[in-house]
Amino acid sequence: MENTQFFAQKRILLTGGAGFIGSHLAEVLLSLGAEVTAVDNLLTGSEHNIAHLQSVSKFRFIKADVTSSPETYLASDFLPDVILHFASPASPPLYQKHPIETYLVNSLATHTLLQYIVHKSPVTRFLFASTSEVYGDPQQHPQAESYFGNVNPNGIRSCYDEAKRLGETICGVHARDLNVDTRIVRIFNTYGPRMDLNDGRVIPQFMKQLLHHQPFSIYGDGTQTRSYCYVSDLVEGILRFVAADGLQGETINLGNPEEHTILETAQVIQSLVTEVKPELEFHPLPKDDPTRRRPDISKAEKLLNWHPRVELVQGLEQTLKYFQDYV
Ligand code: UDP
Repeated sequence: MENTQFFAQKRILLTGGAGFIGSHLAEVLLSLGAEVTAVDNLLTGSEHNIAHLQSVSKFRFIKADVTSSPETYLASDFLPDVILHFASPASPPLYQKHPIETYLVNSLATHTLLQYIVHKSPVTRFLFASTSEVYGDPQQHPQAESYFGNVNPNGIRSCYDEAKRLGETICGVHARDLNVDTRIVRIFNTYGPRMDLNDGRVIPQFMKQLLHHQPFSIYGDGTQTRSYCYVSDLVEGILRFVAADGLQGETINLGNPEEHTILETAQVIQSLVTEVKPELEFHPLPKDDPTRRRPDISKAEKLLNWHPRVELVQGLEQTLKYFQDYV
């Protein structure tokens, strides 16, 4: 990885460290010589995701709610060099089940962490995990960072997408007016090992159905599209973004620009097994479900020299293997 040396000996505060993406970040950061303090309230994260890290001397796990001030859960002499704010439910069924926790962790916790930086640790670099959902049901395709989005401010997804948008606002204010080095990564659909088989997103959901010999649940007619990025590619992009100098206040999309309909997604997952393929069962499309989504990653390619490398079939095979071993 480029900029590897940036992380050696750095103290990282990683919120959402027991989550899907957080646990992969923790693992790679430790391998680069960083000291990682992972904080998670385990609402949707799981200690199982970090069990293999608990014996690593530079890893520490703290069960806490990051809407509280860091001073309530961090040792007073611990000042992080970098804060990665990844705590949040991320799957539509789960954030809709926990709407208040979702909007608080993306808005209040972002504010709280940034105020901690302003008052206690002004040189700390801060990365906010935002989302492609800030583009809502996009009317521009593919979605570039300059697009303002098309979001229902009071719909069933707004506890997540509007809270991420407010989180971005809070980062922007701190970067511009308070000179904090905040950066925003807009993460497009990501998949891989350590997703929760029950989290309801399309890839784990189809894999769960595959393993349980149930039909695939296709919402709507299955012609809506998503673009799926394997987690190791995403982590590589995130770390390049954090390590690069001179990107205070920047927003960058990270995702895989290869776009697939949900029907194609079902077919690719069916093709992973040789036994009887699951049938397709059609269900109503949930409200405000975006019709198309594909990242324009030219900014990441230019500023970070980053491009995803893992092919969909390859990534899905790894993911299925994880679920098969885990179930
Ligand atoms: N989807 C589906 N069947 C499922 C789960 C999801 O057809 O069992 C569709 C969903 O309607 C959406 C797409 O797959 O159009 C991606 O959904 P997901 O929940 O993974 O994430 P989103 O990109 O909507 O946040």
